[in-house]
Amino acid sequence: MNVILLGPPGAGKGTQAERIVKGYGLIHISTGDMLRAAVKNGTEMGLKAQEYMTAGALVPDEVVIGIVRDRIAEKDVEEKGFLLDGFPRTVGQADALDKVLSSLGKNLDAVVNIIVPDEELLDRLTGRRICKSCQKPYHMVFSPPQKEGVCDTCGGELYQRADDTIETVKNRLDVYHSQTSPLIEYYTKKGVLFDIDGTKGMEDVFGDISNALKAKV
Ligand code: AMP
Repeated sequence: MNVILLGPPGAGKGTQAERIVKGYGLIHISTGDMLRAAVKNGTEMGLKAQEYMTAGALVPDEVVIGIVRDRIAEKDVEEKGFLLDGFPRTVGQADALDKVLSSLGKNLDAVVNIIVPDEELLDRLTGRRICKSCQKPYHMVFSPPQKEGVCDTCGGELYQRADDTIETVKNRLDVYHSQTSPLIEYYTKKGVLFDIDGTKGMEDVFGDISNALKAKV
């Protein structure tokens, strides 16, 4: 099964992605994670991407399409199927993905569209903190750690993502509405889109996603 996870920043794509790949044995392909790793490792691609990411803008299509094309062609993805998280984010990327899939003889089975209103996204993202060591996510109000600034699980230091500050979050939401939300119509026309209410609790959201994917397994 090949699935895309669509939705604005802060909709819970990362959390749901973890559950979906566990439940269905898919390979998780997150362009945000891949780009952050490239930035951390100081690679040429990371250096190119960093400036865009800190501003909350999209990294140019040709950079992102290249990394996804290479990853999708790998053997584990061939065998198990993929869950794309954070890609595509523009119609250009969606068109490129269609071409890559048809050249590899693959189909897209479902696009899961997680919907959350902007006000809630703003609260979620600006309060988000992440463990530097194990990447566990927290929220200063909704799920704070027992000791301020310290991960409950591994004792690591919590930090705020550079792009989770209020100005950058507002920019990321604008970018989502102008460049990414046209994909909702794009995939509705293809008959593969499933709308999911992302304001429910994590378990309920996963339950709704599972129901949507049931027809596709
Ligand atoms: P994410 O972790 O998915 O929220 O992505 C973090 C940042 O990485 C985004 O704000 C963009 O700057 C960049 N990024 C991730 N995926 C893409 C993509 N498909 N196209 C362009 N930029 C991306």
